[in-house]
Amino acid sequence: CGIFAYLNYNVNRERRHILQVLFNGLRRLEYRGYDSAGISIDDGDFSSFPRSSSDGSLSPPPLVFRQEGNIESLVKSVYQEVVATELNLEKSFTTHAGIAHTRWATHGEPAPRNSHPQTSGSGNDFLVVHNGVITNYEVLKETLVRHGFTFESETDTEVIPKLAKFVFDKANEEGDQTVTFSQVVLEVMRHLEGAYALIFKSRHYPNELIACKRGSPLLLGVKENDDVCNGSAFHDAKFLLQNSNPKELFLSSDANAIVEHTKKVLVIEDGEVVHLKEGTVSILKFNNDKGRNGGSRSARPA
Ligand code: GLU
Repeated sequence: CGIFAYLNYNVNRERRHILQVLFNGLRRLEYRGYDSAGISIDDGDFSSFPRSSSDGSLSPPPLVFRQEGNIESLVKSVYQEVVATELNLEKSFTTHAGIAHTRWATHGEPAPRNSHPQTSGSGNDFLVVHNGVITNYEVLKETLVRHGFTFESETDTEVIPKLAKFVFDKANEEGDQTVTFSQVVLEVMRHLEGAYALIFKSRHYPNELIACKRGSPLLLGVKENDDVCNGSAFHDAKFLLQNSNPKELFLSSDANAIVEHTKKVLVIEDGEVVHLKEGTVSILKFNNDKGRNGGSRSARPA
């Protein structure tokens, strides 16, 4: 029912802080109703891992925490895991991409396995948080099962990360080792019917996030330094992107979860794909015309 992401770029943030930002984001979405919640954060420091397909230098799998019930029961279960696995909360990340979700179940009962992030399978190669409903998930699921995927949930959402892995693996098998995260997501979108706002995180694209939407709300927040709320609300895209040097980026289905961090908020339009990578925000336009994608609003910060 609500999605949220937090990406810090080129600014040190401890894991404890990253978790706090994600949990607070979820608390701001709480009022919309939910039955479960979940987050994904990084295990290792991805800055030392270049993107890789199948060789040994692949970055460690992102961590996933999912829980039915309220946000505080997720928070509690995360801290129990932190203790049990001796996860270092003081560990500092120069760049880190975390995602979070509050779920209002449409397909599959409230349960940890049906909570988001939904994953592409063991290894967490692709992770997705989703608001909305994928109406053609049954046929996609059948196809993916035929290609050897095993499903763990009853959600409509699970086809999305699995499709992303299918597209990524296929590109690599065909020798395209340079396929970008946004190319993978644009191909995934071509197959999806229904309404959605999605955020993707991937082990293959450390420190990057992709968000896209059709029919469900999605906003991007950009924060440049440590002063909170120094801009005026809702700049147009070009101004916001060209004149910014983002240190922290936020994605959410609800402005409520962003405005405590920054007032520089951009409303993402239907069919737009937001790619956050190395302090750059690119907004591509999805065009379902035989997979060709045209148009964009993008800028590299000065
Ligand atoms: N349809 C998805 C599910 O049931 C997402 C629901 C939501 O928007 O929270 O898991």
